[in-house]
Amino acid sequence: MSDLTASPPFKPRPVRCPACTGNSLYSPANPYRPFCSARCKGVDLGAWASEEFKLPDDTPPDETFGDPRLQ
Ligand SMILES: [Zn+2]
Repeated sequence: MSDLTASPPFKPRPVRCPACTGNSLYSPANPYRPFCSARCKGVDLGAWASEEFKLPDDTPPDETFGDPRLQ
């Protein structure tokens, strides 16, 4: 009697998408796991990138940094 029920090492289970907090499936069939879609994965990475590279470009020059010798 063969009772070898090969249990899959990776059992798909429902998870919450970190990007849209929607329903996602953590499974080998979902290459974007734990995200629900490529868009959510891209949005998350894009947010990180834009947050890293975005620098305030409207900082006014500080007048206090004048030449001390002029005093
Ligand atoms: Zn999502």
